[in-house]
This record gives sequence, structure tokens and C-alpha cells, in this order.
Amino acid sequence: MTETLPDLLNASLIVQKKRLIPYKVALGAKCLPFEEDSFEIQVAYCDPYPFEALDTIAVLFKKKITPFLVEEDLLLKALELCYQSSDKETQNLIETANKNNAIESSESLDGHDLLDESESNPVIRIVNAIFSEAIKMGASDIHFEPSEKGLSVRYRVDGVLLLRHTPAKEIESQIIARLKVLAQLDIAESRLPQDGRLKLKINKRSVDFRVSVIPVAFGERIVLRILDKSHLSLSLDRLGIPSDILESIHQAINVPEGMLLVTGPTGSGKTTTLYSALNKLLQDPINIMTIEDPVEYRFSGMAQISVNSKINLSFASGLKHILRQDPDVIMIGEIRDYETAEIAIQASLTGHRVFSTLHTNDAPSAITRLVDMGIEPYLVCSSITGVLAQRLVRKICPACKIEIAMPKAFKGRFPILESHTFFKGSGCDECFYTGYKGRIGIYEFLSITSSLKKHILKAQDADSLKDHAIELGFKDLHAQALEMAKKGITTLEEVLSVTKSYNI
Ligand SMILES: [Zn+2]
Repeated sequence: MTETLPDLLNASLIVQKKRLIPYKVALGAKCLPFEEDSFEIQVAYCDPYPFEALDTIAVLFKKKITPFLVEEDLLLKALELCYQSSDKETQNLIETANKNNAIESSESLDGHDLLDESESNPVIRIVNAIFSEAIKMGASDIHFEPSEKGLSVRYRVDGVLLLRHTPAKEIESQIIARLKVLAQLDIAESRLPQDGRLKLKINKRSVDFRVSVIPVAFGERIVLRILDKSHLSLSLDRLGIPSDILESIHQAINVPEGMLLVTGPTGSGKTTTLYSALNKLLQDPINIMTIEDPVEYRFSGMAQISVNSKINLSFASGLKHILRQDPDVIMIGEIRDYETAEIAIQASLTGHRVFSTLHTNDAPSAITRLVDMGIEPYLVCSSITGVLAQRLVRKICPACKIEIAMPKAFKGRFPILESHTFFKGSGCDECFYTGYKGRIGIYEFLSITSSLKKHILKAQDADSLKDHAIELGFKDLHAQALEMAKKGITTLEEVLSVTKSYNI
């Protein structure tokens, strides 16, 4: 029973209970009614036994109580599921506020839980409801965009922006002011861009946001990046990496020296992969140091440094300082210039494991990029252990997945698959009518074998390096994405989105 509490929750009971038992009370007493019949009501609780709360629930529902002891984590998860406002509730809240236009001054949100609806100020409730909804939808960013007509509130979910709310122009300034107060920014400053951070609680769990404000033509545009650690799966084994590639990565991160590179465009999950690799090494008795732009997630057990242009702390200068602190493993957020590349390569040749990212579209291009930066090909060959390239493609929503024939637009492109059956999402409540839910990684891994080294030393271009690697069994991103579409995990449109940026 303890395994399945969230699944057992009775929806109609939750609606009743929400009216009868405010969130604060349920959270304080750590108990939650989850099922009832005409005689009894089943209540989940965790230690210590909440005598008083169970008595109150018995009186409220006029029924016998059957208590169930559950783990605290499970109860908190169930509370979060029950009390999160529905999309409709958030929409209603914004519409009511638009009509009434009854907004007062903002207060501090410190110590407030987003699910606590007892807050009377409508602006605070709207902002809370938007945060809560965005987190529930698994959004990575929230955009507040002013225009002539009013504010548009969009969430980035699975890499795509979805328009969710359009609060009236009248309350725009109060919403913006509220966000600036929360991020501890200067409310009076509306001509210059500002950056800040804020930390909120949602059901006792902390969620960090990085906040950016930029003045634009119709007001101030605010983007919040949601840094929700609970969504971050930091296990290499859980990133969906094919087993042969996973084995090569394990080999690459366990060698005593050498450099592992991860490439891909912004938002392709490179940082998550690198953090997962570091996470794997955290158990070892070694010194792990990172230099990042900026540090997005903080981990205990490793020293993380943020680059800071204001004080001339760059990747290259930070790296020089890190090397004086006797590191075993160094993670460099990104290699962008010759100086950083040179120090990184030297470090990886002198007893350090170096992990970094490069902004290239595929794995073979990482090799030629380093050579183009001015690194000698023989140094590239002796330092790089492997290059992983990755993308994220959207997965078809399982709730509205339907079978289709190959769409006409793809017929010339994939002639051998014309008779194959494909799938797509027709759109439903679950996927907010996008047809997609969640994303999955697509990977290619280039091992620097002795045969490939000979090619690199002959200063080959990326295309011929790739052709040679394919002869040796290298499977590229496009082939992997197409495999996913053939299995019905993603669509041909998503495969094309990988291919589109592939050979630029
Ligand atoms: Zn769907």
C-alpha cells in the first residue's frame, strides 16, 4: 500500500478535502484522507501518530477513520499531487484578477510554500500559481513577455515554448514588480537589464530560479530558468544512452588521464551528461574541481567555480588556479578559445582527467574544431579519449499515440522506409495538445582509435573523419534518431530537427 499511495488518491475526495482541509493543516498534521466509502475514510499518516488531526477528520467527515502508516516522502509527494492547482484554476485566478483589477502592494514571499492558497493578495496568488503550474508541467523556463495588449506568459516544455496565460495590461506592472521583489532586484530600475536568483519552496522542496530582466519596447521582459534538482537525473545509466556507448563512456571517465568531450547545441543536455559523469566519480577518494559559466547546480563533494568577466575570471585563468589545487578530475564548462583548449590539453596529458564541452554539431567536428583553434593534431590525438555528441528529441505522448503511414513530405527523403508504419501524438490534455511528452537523448560516440589517429594526423576534414569512423562501425546521430522513429518513440519531424542542424 505504501508503494502506491499517489495512485490510490481518489480525485473526487481530494476536491472535497481541499475545501475542508487547507494545505497548511494537512502538511502540519502530516496526514491525508485518500479513499472513503459510506462507513469509513482511509487516512494516510506518518509518525508521530496525529491523534488530534485524525479526530478532527472523523468529525468533519462523520465517519470511522482507518489510518495507514506511510513513509514521509510518499506522503509529501501525495500532498503535492493533491494540492497543486489545476491548469483551469490558474486560468480562473488570472481571469478573476483581470476582471476585478483589485491588486494591492506586494509582500515578501519568504518562508511561504507555493501550494499554500491562504494568501489573500491576488498578484501573489497569480505568481505562485504560475510557478506551481510551470513546475508541475516540467517546464525549464517561464517567459513573461510584455506587448501592446498585455503580458504573455509562456512555458518552455520539452524545448518548445507554450503560451499559457495572458494577464491583462492593467496587472502587468504588478506581476513584474512582484517577480523583481522575489529576485531581490531593483524595482525602480526599469531601463537597464538585471540578473538575479530566487529560491522558492514547493511542498517543503526547494526550487531555484535564475532570473533575467531586460527592458524591451513595451515594458520589461522577464525569463526565469527553473533549476529543479529533483528533475535532474544524475545517473549515466538513466540517460537513455545505448549500452555500447555507455561502456565507452565508462572507460573514458575511468582512465587516469585524458580528455572526454561532449558536444551539441545549447539545450542538448551536455551539462546533465557531464554532471552525471562527475556524480559517478563522487564516491571515489579524489579531488573534483569545476569551472562553469555559471554554476547551475551546486553539489557537495566537488569544488565549483563560476567564471566572472567583471573580475577577469575566465575559463583559462580559472583553470590555471584549479591546477594549483591538486585536482584529479577537472570539468570545464566549455572550451571556446585557444588558451583554454591549450591548458585543458596540457592538464589531460599530465595526470588529470578533464571533461569539457565544445559547441559543435557532431563528434568528428570536435576534433577539427580543436585543430582549427590552433592545437597541434598530435596533441589532440594523444589527449582526447573520446567525443560524445548528443541531442534531445521529443517523445510521442503515450496517451494519444496513433499509427500513421509515412507522411508525404518524407517520402523522397527516406525511400527505403516508405512502407514502414510510424506513429504520432494526436494531441490531448496530457500533452497540452502538442502530441509530445518528455524527451529522450540521441547519442553518437567517437572513440579515438589508432586507425582514426592516423587520419587525424593527416589533417583530414570532419567529413572524411566521419566517413572513416563509419567504416569502423561509428553510428551517427541521424541513424540513431531514425531508429527511434522506426520504433515509434519519436516522429520523423523530430528526426529531421536533428538532421537539420547536423551538417551546418
Ligand atoms: Zn497526448
